[in-house]
Amino acid sequence: MKKHNFYAGPSILSEFTIKNTADAVLNFNGTGLSILEISHRSKEFQAVIDEANALIKELLDIPQGYEVLFLGGGASTQFCMVPFNLLKKKAAYLDTGVWASKAIKEAKLFGEVEVVASSKDANYTFVPKDYTVPADADYFHITTNNTIYGTELREDPNVAVPLVADMSSDIFSRRIDVSKYDAIYAGAQKNLAPSGVTLVIVKEDALGKVDRAIPTMLDYRTHVSKGSMFNTPPCLPIYSALQTLKWYKAQGGIDALEKLDKEKAARLYDAIDNSKIFVGTAKAEDRSIMNVCFVMRPEYAELDKQFIEFAGERGIVGIKGHRSVGGFRASLYNAMPMESVQVLIDTMKDFENKL
Ligand SMILES: *Cc1c(COP(=O)(O)O)cnc(C)c1O
Repeated sequence: MKKHNFYAGPSILSEFTIKNTADAVLNFNGTGLSILEISHRSKEFQAVIDEANALIKELLDIPQGYEVLFLGGGASTQFCMVPFNLLKKKAAYLDTGVWASKAIKEAKLFGEVEVVASSKDANYTFVPKDYTVPADADYFHITTNNTIYGTELREDPNVAVPLVADMSSDIFSRRIDVSKYDAIYAGAQKNLAPSGVTLVIVKEDALGKVDRAIPTMLDYRTHVSKGSMFNTPPCLPIYSALQTLKWYKAQGGIDALEKLDKEKAARLYDAIDNSKIFVGTAKAEDRSIMNVCFVMRPEYAELDKQFIEFAGERGIVGIKGHRSVGGFRASLYNAMPMESVQVLIDTMKDFENKL
């Protein structure tokens, strides 16, 4: 039986992505070679990376002057690559969770960091809105979706300095005004591909402005000048990413994905809000449409494990909350069908009714 996969990452991918990847592992585009063994310098692989690049630019409506990169090292490597390449003297950061704090920690190695606001004291259950970004900051770093806490910033803030964003867990779920950003990055394993590749969108004009020496592999210009092929890129995840991008386009692009994402989340939040035993943890106005976090009400708190088992019997996997938050987290990435969300909702109701 196919499971209802609510894992936070690596996470659900479309059947189209998985099937085409499996086919290419056996025979890539009729070459008689596996995608696992073909040279990244071959014309066949070059075509893959070129098409993925073009589709990302098309789907996200990326303006001229920006480069799309496929890098290794995960989003976590971007926590240091961003300040390495972009922080001249001072940067501003919004602290909305563990990932944001990790980005802040790295930035401090490179210059002055002003944390303009933090929701840490409230265990990151909301996204701070009352803050001022210093006009002399080189950039303002945000984490658009806080995967662990289920909060999300679904707009590109209006500030006087360029934005930089970690969009690991909500890229391709809304339109972005890319022109406001110097850099956008996303580990692929939430809304794009298997783990192993990180998508980076970087503004070319923003590069080359820092005085420090940058190690070759950590310099965006290296990868821009070589079209992500300075060294061997993660070929298989890039191939899978291309499949997801084709599937996104076939679904109707970002607007269609966002519409369905919103419907899925609305249904699940509605079920949580109407439940006697479950309660949402994120502040209503900041609720993420990608990661829905909830807990048992205190009087039922000892039933956590029982619910996870009950859900498991119905093929639901991956709903345990992050260890730093507890409770439950249902991740509803783009590839998650409405039917699976409905199975979770029905399971929650059935569990409640049998108490
Ligand atoms: C998962 C995640 C990361 C970490 O990504 P890695 O690719 O494992 O380094 C960073 N930021 C956010 C918002 C995430 O969801």
